[in-house]
Amino acid sequence: MSGDRGIRLLIVGPPGAGKGTQASAVAEAYGIPAISTGDIFRANIEQGTELGKQVQEVMASGGFVPDELTNSIVADRLKQEDAQGGFLLDGYPRTTEQVHELDRILAESGAELDAVIQLQADTDEVVKRLTKRALEQGRVDDTEDVIRHRQDLYREQTEPVIAIYAERGAVVEVDGLGTVDDVAARVRDGLAARGLGVHA
Ligand code: AMP
Repeated sequence: MSGDRGIRLLIVGPPGAGKGTQASAVAEAYGIPAISTGDIFRANIEQGTELGKQVQEVMASGGFVPDELTNSIVADRLKQEDAQGGFLLDGYPRTTEQVHELDRILAESGAELDAVIQLQADTDEVVKRLTKRALEQGRVDDTEDVIRHRQDLYREQTEPVIAIYAERGAVVEVDGLGTVDDVAARVRDGLAARGLGVHA
């Protein structure tokens, strides 16, 4: 971990693997902000901001918001005070281009990532979960076609992102199947095994 400058983590996993839930738990345990690009976009859509209008359509279709736009939002967010002592990025980077931008942002402040938590879950299971979430939360990007499109994009664009971090030896693989508490315990153990425990 980068001394008193806190811990810098990413969490990646297929749509429906429970990233958001685990991100909140990990961020709380480490006292760092969980920064979810999906949440930022959704909040902007809800508030009817200019950014919200720009991303509404592509989000509803399950596509990716263009890299340039996503990158600039993350760059701004990481400059804020609360992110100086570490952060957990949830849902970013999702493309190799975004990896390069994050490298640039971190290099600028002399910071490094500590670990990338990869939540693993098989496609049938996540599709089942997302269909259930659609009924419970009414998210416009949880319909069957859109779910399939999001899984395809994950395979095509985000798995190469994981490959980059795996090559750097940064990935902590966690089985995402099971109760929220079971998965949270696995995340904690995986980070602790790398010397990144909460009290490390
Ligand atoms: P999430 O909440 O992480 O599942 O993200 C929901 C949606 O927000 C995605 O399907 C994309 O449309 C958009 N989105 C979130 N993060 C990114 C990103 N890093 N790059 C491009 N689009 C994103």
